[in-house]
Amino acid sequence: MSNSTSQFPLASILGYPRIGPNRELKFALESFWHGENNDLAATADELRVKRTRRLRDLGLEEAGAIPEDFSYYDQVLDIITALGAVPERFAPERKVLADSEPESTESLKAQFTIARGEGDRAALSLMKWLDSNYHYLVPEIGPDTEISYLGSKRVRAIATTKDAARTRPVLVGPLTFLLLASAADNAPEGYEPFERLDDVLAGYKGLVEDLKANGATLVQFDEPALCSDRHTVARDRILDGVAKVYGELAEILPTAVALSYGHAEDVVDVLAKTKVDTVVLDLVRGCEPGEADLNRWAESYAGRTIALGIVSGRNIWRTDLDEALETLRRIKKNLGDDVRVAVTTSTSLQHVPHDVSREESLDPQIRSWLAFADQKVEEVVALAKGLAEGDEAIEDALSDSRAAATSRREHPGVKVEEVRKATAAVTDDDRNRGDYAERKAAQDEALKLPLLPTTTIGSFPQTKEIRAARAAHRRGELSTADYEAAMEKEIHDVIRTQEEIGVDVLVHGEAERNDMVQYFAEHLNGFVTTTHGWVQSYGSRCTRPSILWGDVTRPEPITVRWSGYAASLTDRVVKGMLTGPVTIMAWSFVREDIPWGEVADQLGLCLRDEVRDLEAAGVQVIQVDEPAIRELLPLRSTEETEYLRWSVGSFRLATGSAAKETSIHTHLCYSDFATVVDAIDRLDADVTSIEASRSRMAVLPAIAEHGFDRGLGPGVWDIHSPRVPSVEEISELIDRALDALAPEQLWVNPDCGLKTRGWEETSASLKNLVEAAKAAREKLS
Ligand code: GLN
Ligand code: ZN
Repeated sequence: MSNSTSQFPLASILGYPRIGPNRELKFALESFWHGENNDLAATADELRVKRTRRLRDLGLEEAGAIPEDFSYYDQVLDIITALGAVPERFAPERKVLADSEPESTESLKAQFTIARGEGDRAALSLMKWLDSNYHYLVPEIGPDTEISYLGSKRVRAIATTKDAARTRPVLVGPLTFLLLASAADNAPEGYEPFERLDDVLAGYKGLVEDLKANGATLVQFDEPALCSDRHTVARDRILDGVAKVYGELAEILPTAVALSYGHAEDVVDVLAKTKVDTVVLDLVRGCEPGEADLNRWAESYAGRTIALGIVSGRNIWRTDLDEALETLRRIKKNLGDDVRVAVTTSTSLQHVPHDVSREESLDPQIRSWLAFADQKVEEVVALAKGLAEGDEAIEDALSDSRAAATSRREHPGVKVEEVRKATAAVTDDDRNRGDYAERKAAQDEALKLPLLPTTTIGSFPQTKEIRAARAAHRRGELSTADYEAAMEKEIHDVIRTQEEIGVDVLVHGEAERNDMVQYFAEHLNGFVTTTHGWVQSYGSRCTRPSILWGDVTRPEPITVRWSGYAASLTDRVVKGMLTGPVTIMAWSFVREDIPWGEVADQLGLCLRDEVRDLEAAGVQVIQVDEPAIRELLPLRSTEETEYLRWSVGSFRLATGSAAKETSIHTHLCYSDFATVVDAIDRLDADVTSIEASRSRMAVLPAIAEHGFDRGLGPGVWDIHSPRVPSVEEISELIDRALDALAPEQLWVNPDCGLKTRGWEETSASLKNLVEAAKAAREKLS
């Protein structure tokens, strides 16, 4: 690396959790929204200072090693507000953003209005960030969206930190910003936000100039969308955009471009022709670059840095340091002496909790296998040192890593012979329920439901009382018997309410579930849950993913007690509720020592037993929720077939033994699911409910065209808002649905579960839904 002038630190991370070790940001935000704490910026500053000190203590000492990525709500919103790129309905907020300092109270309020909506001005929508469970705010961009640089909090953070040289501002890059945007409502048919690249680039130039003027010496752009081929914009146009954008931005400040969540060799080659200082590769979800690529980059990146993201930002397992060092050395050797090689994380660490050493109630053996954000920082530092100075320099870290690997390999729960035998014995027949027409006839006969049956998606309002009872039970203040009695009372009330309203297929309401995934994790062997393992989901919302570490078994029936009780209370049909294998995996931290398809089948077998037990308890309809099936869809379409093979396969394993008479439902909750119509078809559920009310059934023609002939319940009530839809509105949606579907196929239900709603709007809306279904039935007969 003789004459390199590259600025990128040899050990760094791409980003750090923003929520705070004790969810300080969450609580500060919520009290700001309630008007209690008006000095939110002061809390944020405190968090930033603590974080910088912590990261320095953990060994991020070089210039530019500490990412300045703090966000009050979301990293995409930070760009939306910096560029003022908001839809027309937020014109007043844009003015505030333009006229005030980025972290003033007025400006923060305006940002939160854009993020959360106000009155009838809908918030920007939320979408999953790449294939993760984090939600970003979707920019709405049209031909007339005003875009210009208005100021950024990143600049203030750099200007006020005492450690400016050590920090490195992180920004979502311009291409990702536009590729993940949606067309504004008033944009012409087929409009692509990407058309605004020049204007967005001009805005970013203003931002980078401002950073430079305030002391930044290096800037990182996150461009994960470049690792995906699921865009409507042609690849050539995207690559031309990359050349143009980074050709210009890299002239202003030394620039690093992070290609996380996958791989994009073509982008690496295009960036080589610009003055970009550093390109970051994801070696965890991407793949190790081949020799031909490395040989090319050995020349084209001479004098610059290639940073290798080898410590996973997505999962909580300790890195195998021996293996990682071997990979790093192999790549370094192929890149030769002219390219600087740096060590970093595969993505921002925003997807993992802060610090595993605080998990005192976790089994110490299992805890020793884990690395949360702080431990990952130490891993990066150790790997960089090992790469520079050899194994001897990091002997302690290596021996800890080896001990953890051995302990994990030898733990009896990691490989349970019966489980391995059971998954190996699965045959195609086990995933096959036979002819749908026959099933449909048997179910019609058994269930005797009217045309256009009404149902809900599973949960009813989780009231204060329910949550208080659960908390008291957890603290030991409420006995198990009293807790169960409270849940039974809730189920009883929910059943009576549905009977009174006249719903056809009833649910028990899921009162006993804290969370649709964690509940199952707590009742299966092979999982542990954490105490402080919070991860930001969006804004102030956090989730605490369970950790799936071992082979999965079901010690006893999980839901039968509650669903069976509900069924015993009524003559009407009751629907049992399970969470599907793919969703359990998508919303947990999952082991990576065996293929995901095998993990999914283990879960599938446990759920299969649960289905059998529910049937035995007299439950005739069973819904297996898979809201996350699209989320895990690979960013590269070539990997789709393999993904669908195992994901669909595990769902079918879970449901495959159900009797013909048993009606299997599934639920998926997003509207743009035209992309996965094929997958939905292959799930082979008897009835599928989906979100459809906001898009006003826009997705149905595609489904009809696909020849989908099973039951379908497109949502007719948008449960994301407390508004009560009128009978007329619901009737109109039913009519639209009937334009695309046969009456025998159509179910009438809300978009999703009602957990976050209040009772008042829930019963009013449900009454209207039932009335609209009855009216439609009459019209048909
Ligand atoms: N059965 C779940 C519920 O009603 C489904 C939730 C979801 O789709 N995310 O809450
Ligand atoms: Zn849903």
